[in-house]
Amino acid sequence: MNPRGRHVLYWMVASRRLGWSFALDRALAHARTMDRPLVILEPLRLDYAWAADRHHRFALDGMNEHRTTAARHGVGYHAYVEPVRGAGKGLLEAWAEDAVVVVTDDFPAFFLPRMQAAAARRVRVRMEAVDSCGLLPLAASSRPFSAAVHFRRHLQRSLPAYLLDMPAPDPLAEGGFPADPELPESILAQWPSAEPRLLQGGAQELAGLDIDHDVAPAPLSGGATAGRQRLSSFLSDGLDRYGTERNHPDADAASGLSPWLHWGHISAHEVFHGVVTRAGWSPARLNGGATGRREGWWGLDESSEAFLDQLVTWRELGFVFCRHVPTYGEYRSLPKWAMETLEAHAQDRRPYRYTLSELEDARTHDEVWNAAQRELRQRGIIHNYLRMLWGKKILEWTSHPREALDVMVHLNNRWALDGRDPNSWSGITWVLGRFDRGWPERAIYGKVRSMTSEATRRKVRLERYLDRWRG
Ligand SMILES: Cc1cc2nc3c(=O)[nH]c(=O)nc-3n(C[C@H](O)[C@H](O)[C@H](O)COP(=O)(O)OP(=O)(O)OC[C@H]3O[C@@H](n4cnc5c(N)ncnc54)[C@H](O)[C@@H]3O)c2cc1C
Repeated sequence: MNPRGRHVLYWMVASRRLGWSFALDRALAHARTMDRPLVILEPLRLDYAWAADRHHRFALDGMNEHRTTAARHGVGYHAYVEPVRGAGKGLLEAWAEDAVVVVTDDFPAFFLPRMQAAAARRVRVRMEAVDSCGLLPLAASSRPFSAAVHFRRHLQRSLPAYLLDMPAPDPLAEGGFPADPELPESILAQWPSAEPRLLQGGAQELAGLDIDHDVAPAPLSGGATAGRQRLSSFLSDGLDRYGTERNHPDADAASGLSPWLHWGHISAHEVFHGVVTRAGWSPARLNGGATGRREGWWGLDESSEAFLDQLVTWRELGFVFCRHVPTYGEYRSLPKWAMETLEAHAQDRRPYRYTLSELEDARTHDEVWNAAQRELRQRGIIHNYLRMLWGKKILEWTSHPREALDVMVHLNNRWALDGRDPNSWSGITWVLGRFDRGWPERAIYGKVRSMTSEATRRKVRLERYLDRWRG
C-alpha cells in the first residue's frame, strides 16, 4: 500500500456495476479507512477476441450510466474507450502511480486473468483482485467438478456459510469518503474520457473503431437499469412458470438475464436476493444435508428451486471449472470417456455437412436450427433449450468434433451478448460431453448425448418462435 497515494483506484473490468459488488465494497472500505477519494477506471479495449459493435454498445450503455451515478456520489469515474489498438497501454500504471491501492475484479476466464497477472507485475502498489462472480466464492472450491451433482453436493455443504454475506446494494450512497477528486490533466490528455456522444450513440459512433462492424448492436440495452427491468419482469411474470415452462420457446418463461450477468451489469447476488425476497425466504428454510439432489434443498417452491439451480449450480460450475482448468476451452480438456467415444465415431458418415459460412448464415435444411441461429444473429441470444440443440447439430454436421468445437466457439462468442463467459465454454463443451454421462451409443455422437430437431418439435412449443425467426 502507498499511504501517500492520492486516491484509491478501482479498476473495473468484469463486475461492471455500482452496487452488489464485493470489489466495489472493498475499494470503498479502503477509501474510508485511508480517507482518500475513490476513482473508478472502467476501460473498454479494442483488441479482445470477437470485439464488435454489439458487445461495445452493450458495455457502453453500462458506462454511460456509471458516469452519471458516479458524478452524483462524488466518485471519480474515468470511462476510457480505446480509440486505436494499443492506445490504452500505460493507463493503469499512470493511475496506479498515485494510488494508495488498486482493487480489481477477479474473473476466471477469457483474457482477463492474463491481463491482470501482467498488470499486477507492472504496478508498484498493492493490487487486490476481489471475487464477486457468484454466491460461492471461487476460493471455496479447491478443484473442478466433473458433473453438476458433485458440485451441487459441495454447494449444499459450503454455501450456507456465505449466504448471509451479501455485497451492499447501493454502497456509494453510504458516503464516508472524500468526494469529487480531480482527474489529473496529465492522464486525461493522453487517455481522454469517452465522450457522451460515444457513450450514448449508435452504430455510427462506433464506425471509426477497429472492431467487427458486421455484428450490429442487439435490440437490448446494457446497464443495470435495463438488467433490473428484466429481472423485475421475470420475477412478476416468468418465475412462477419457470419450473414447468422454461424449455418452451413460445412460453417466454426464462429470465433472459445472461447478457447482463455476463457483463457484470447485474450480479447473481441481486438476482438471488430478488428471488428469495419475493418468497419471504430466510436461510432457516434450508433443508440441510448435502445429497446433491436438485429439488428440496432451498426450501422454496419448485420454480424458484429450478431457477436457482441454473443461476447458482450450473452457472458457478462453469466458473469453478475455468478457475482450475486453464485449458477449459480446448478439445483436450474434455473428459476422457467423451473424447474416446467421439474419436471412435469421428469417421462416421455425416448425412449433412455444412461449412462455417453456411452455418453462420443459417443456410441449413433444418428450420428449427436456422431459427435459433437467426435469433442469435439478430437478438444476440438463443433460447436455452434450443441452444443445446443448436450445439448438438453443429457436432453432427461438421467433419470432426474438433471442428465442431471451433465452430461453436466462433459463432457463440462472435454473436452472443453473453458470449466469452465461463458459461460459453461450459455450455459448448457440454455439447461434447463435459458435465454429462454416457448415453446409448449412436452414429457420430458415440456415447455423447444426442438431440434431434424432430424430438424437439414434439417436446416443446415453438410454433410462434419459428414464425418469428423463419427469416
Ligand atoms: C452450446 C451452448 C452455449 C452456451 N453459451 C453460453 C454463453 O455464451 N453464455 C452464457 O451465459 N451461457 C451459455 N450457455 C448456457 C445457457 O444456455 C444460458 O446461460 C441460458 O440460456 C441463458 O438464458 P437465460 O438467462 O434466460 O437463462 P435462465 O434459464 O433464466 O437461467 C438464469 C441464469 O442461470 C445461468 N444458466 C442457465 N442455464 C445455464 C447453463 N446450462 N449453464 C450455465 N449457466 C446457466 C445463466 O447465467 C442464466 O442467465 C450455453 C449453453 C449451450 C448449450
